[in-house]
Amino acid sequence: MNKDQAECNQLTPLLQKIGSSLDRYLRFEHADAVVNAEQWRTELGRTLPAAGVGIDEVVSELCDIVIPNGSQIPNPGSTSFITTGATSAGVIANLAAMVASPQRIGVTAFNFLEELSLRWLAELFQLPANMKGVYSSGGSVANLVALGAARQWAFERIGIDPARDGIAKPCRIYGTQACHHTINRAAAVLGMGRESVVNIASDHMGCMSPETLHAQLTADLENDDIAVAVVANAGTTGTGAIDSLRELGDIAREFAVWFHVDGAYGLPGILDPQVRHLYDGLELADSVIVDPHKWLGAPVGIGATFVRDRNILHRAFTQGTADYLEGSLSDTDARHSMDQLGIPYYDFGVELSAPSRGAVVWALLREIGADGLTARICRHNAMARRIAERCREHPNLEILQEPILSICCFRYVCDNCGDLNELNRRIHRALIHNNHNMPSTTLVNGQLAIRPCFVGARTTWEYADALVDEVLEMGQKLAVGARTAAAAAAKTA
Ligand SMILES: *Cc1c(COP(=O)(O)O)cnc(C)c1O
Repeated sequence: MNKDQAECNQLTPLLQKIGSSLDRYLRFEHADAVVNAEQWRTELGRTLPAAGVGIDEVVSELCDIVIPNGSQIPNPGSTSFITTGATSAGVIANLAAMVASPQRIGVTAFNFLEELSLRWLAELFQLPANMKGVYSSGGSVANLVALGAARQWAFERIGIDPARDGIAKPCRIYGTQACHHTINRAAAVLGMGRESVVNIASDHMGCMSPETLHAQLTADLENDDIAVAVVANAGTTGTGAIDSLRELGDIAREFAVWFHVDGAYGLPGILDPQVRHLYDGLELADSVIVDPHKWLGAPVGIGATFVRDRNILHRAFTQGTADYLEGSLSDTDARHSMDQLGIPYYDFGVELSAPSRGAVVWALLREIGADGLTARICRHNAMARRIAERCREHPNLEILQEPILSICCFRYVCDNCGDLNELNRRIHRALIHNNHNMPSTTLVNGQLAIRPCFVGARTTWEYADALVDEVLEMGQKLAVGARTAAAAAAKTA
């Protein structure tokens, strides 16, 4: 057979079917995936097909079995962790890139948008003018790329090229308990080891103590370890706390240590005038990361790393010369889109083949502009503050951590109803099972907090009050049982 069996065209009718199935999904009128798990596991769990069923059958199975049993993450009531569904512009730009520019290389509009959108992000988030970026799959890799640059810089200063020769000296990275654990993993992958991350004391909000950092760096001048980076958070994952970037950045400068700012979640917070001052000192950063697949509403798979000098990324991550590229490019002006690869992003990080992510970020920003994104950030931050306000007004609610960005940590409280951690754990489980308001939980100083994190574009203002109302309703219901149990336990004791 000369013709391939795979359908390679016909996107219009196929997408029409998928599109209406997805639109229906997003109305969230269907049952949660677990409800029919036995059925779809049976329907899908076939043996490897020898003969294919053809594209129409695949589309039918996608529409009838797979899509209706998807995730709750895009549900507007889902405020768990820091993740959300993509907005439509992100979805369709992603699709366009998959079809029209499967790689980010070449003299194409997609390659152009890669750099343009990185510049837009830098400008939008008020990064230093000379900072340039590179996309990767998300915060994990974005942190890895930034710390790879930090490692390169620290070792080059003592005459070693760590990317070429490896590292034989113990390293130190200064962070806090609240740092994302991808920092530890990045340290491991870069050969410095997870244990190289020194835990600097933080205050009750999870912000690094500048005094302790200064004392630790001073003490460490005595040993032979290489100080690779100070890692500050612009929005911690747990509570959204923002480190004192000015103070930490000044200290990093004083000791000539690379200053990395992890803004995977929280960097866009700089757009909210009410909290903008908390980002004072951002310009001291040597590297900054942000995840467009969080607050910007991009489909999952897009993180960005920015550094002052992108050449250092090339030294840290180059693959070296390769025979398979020899002679395949032209040195002169491009006369064809394949004459040049464009900016060598593939040597600025750890991915060679990579999707055109710039078109997605471009589409998101083009659609709603800086104003639209600012409105989203301000709305979500105000929603977290709204919950805190409700907590102050109601005797059965307690704030465990005042919101800084769009996270509010709070819990249900009542007299004589036993273990409040257990009670709030049960309230939280009940919320999840009710399928309307789905926050996550976290521990704040040993106390279990209900933790909504508002980042989804679909999550509108009403969801803040709806969540509080439901916590109160579930709390009252479950507290009765908890009280009876506590009383019974007291009697037998
Ligand atoms: C989410 C997050 C990460 C990890 O990002 P992924 O995109 O999930 O890999 C890193 N740092 C912070 C502060 C985060 O919130």
